[in-house]
Amino acid sequence: MSFSRALQCGPMERQVRSLWRAHQNNEKRTWRQRWRLWNLLREFDFTPPDPSSWPLQFPEQRIPDCASCQDNCCKGPHNTVLLRLVDVALFVDKGWTDQMTHDKPTFDEATLAARPMLRAMTQSFHWRVFPVLRQKADQTCTFLDAEGRCTIHVSRPWICRVFPYVLDIDNEAIGWSPRCQWYREVPEEEAQPIAQELHHAVFHNFYTEKICDLTLTTVYWEELQEMGLAGYLRLE
Ligand code: SF4
Ligand code: SF4
Repeated sequence: MSFSRALQCGPMERQVRSLWRAHQNNEKRTWRQRWRLWNLLREFDFTPPDPSSWPLQFPEQRIPDCASCQDNCCKGPHNTVLLRLVDVALFVDKGWTDQMTHDKPTFDEATLAARPMLRAMTQSFHWRVFPVLRQKADQTCTFLDAEGRCTIHVSRPWICRVFPYVLDIDNEAIGWSPRCQWYREVPEEEAQPIAQELHHAVFHNFYTEKICDLTLTTVYWEELQEMGLAGYLRLE
């Protein structure tokens, strides 16, 4: 079981990663960028929590059993794949931009009440700014084949990579999406390294990548415009 993407970056993704590195290295910023960053830091707390201190809200030995799953999570009205900036860059590199859309589904109050994570997602900055993956008319993901397999498995978006695990920020824990009911138990020695990698991957996806997206779209909007990425986002 691996959450990482062993894939060489294309030119657009390299540009995004290099912009983020430049930001992290405090490379020279314009006054406008400094002003925007100052405002952003007043609004959001970017202090990274210690991932290892966040408990799992499910048995450590439980892992999803995708190989024998009879209830594929890549289909249905609640399969909403919200993309990250690196996903959008990768889709540009791959020529898959027509598979992204800002035409997002809406959910009724009963659904949102039953699924607090879904509610949090639909109220987030990311939901407003970033596209989602298209679905076909039968509500399956555009990349799902007739046999129920993902046709872009090695390049699949971040959120697909860590599903069904989710970061429960309110409770400072790592949760398990109720949409996945197909799991199995593994021996403790197998579960330990998975749990460690899981902590890292979930934090990377839900925390670091989100901070990266928030910072780059807010502080470096003109750079994203020059790169040709801003057109796929909705900030203004
Ligand atoms: S529902 Fe769970 S077990 Fe089934 S494909 Fe999705 S993550 Fe895997
Ligand atoms: S991209 Fe692949 S893993 Fe993600 S929802 Fe679509 S088919 Fe499933």
